[in-house]
Amino acid sequence: MGLGFQVLDFQITLPLNTFLAYIAYKRKFLECKAVIVSFVMGCIIGGFGGLALYMTIVGFFVVSSIFTFYKHDIKRKYYIVMSKGGTRDSIQVLSNGLVATVIAILYAMTTLKEYFFLAYIGTLATVTSDTWATELGILSSRKPRLITDLKRTVEPGVSGGVTLLGYGAALAAGFFIATVAYVFYRLKLVFTEFNGFYISPEVIYLVAIVSGLIGCTVDSILGATVQGFYYCEKCKTFTERRIHTCGEKARLVHGYEFFDNDVVNLTSSIIGALIGFALALTLL
Ligand SMILES: [Zn+2]
Repeated sequence: MGLGFQVLDFQITLPLNTFLAYIAYKRKFLECKAVIVSFVMGCIIGGFGGLALYMTIVGFFVVSSIFTFYKHDIKRKYYIVMSKGGTRDSIQVLSNGLVATVIAILYAMTTLKEYFFLAYIGTLATVTSDTWATELGILSSRKPRLITDLKRTVEPGVSGGVTLLGYGAALAAGFFIATVAYVFYRLKLVFTEFNGFYISPEVIYLVAIVSGLIGCTVDSILGATVQGFYYCEKCKTFTERRIHTCGEKARLVHGYEFFDNDVVNLTSSIIGALIGFALALTLL
């Protein structure tokens, strides 16, 4: 098949993709529509991006799902503030994976493979850092501080709130994404002796860690500034939900209605990809 479609890689990734879709549905990691969206994205990334790109997003998905449901009972009480929680919907899946999917296609169809490979790592490191920082940082025993005014503390779950534990998790996420990407990049050399390009492990780790840390910082800054933040008169509580969990329409306190958590995630995933691409231009 033309267009850079990788038949061998697709034959390996399709069964795994089908199995993961089944698990995601069974264990309620994803809502029904989100299972379909992520299955389609997985097919595109597995076929065009190949094994290394596919396994990187699988790594993100599997470990992030485990972290999301880790100490779920403690986190559940913050869902009243957070825009969403627990089982992910199709919009959340798209806001995390759309940029990666587009890059996988560009990777297959252009000759700039090594640049798109690193842009892909940049966007994946950003969404992974952001997810781990949120899911683990929320368990911090210290109150989060607002990224735009570190003297102010905010409630756990509020966008823009950062903790040292969250940043530790973001750093670990960068290491993790680099490791998965590099291992499968090398593994492909064992079978086919050719990737079409060479990238050193140092560059892969540097790109993943730098884009992850900057990307999730951008996410927090957007969360503290432009993201819609509301007050529910009925429950006398602040929330990121336009329609509060009680069913009441909440009043906009700051930010823009259009900028919900998903738009913020999509924006930072684009910025993560741009950082990865820019680092590729500088380092390669
Ligand atoms: Zn309410």
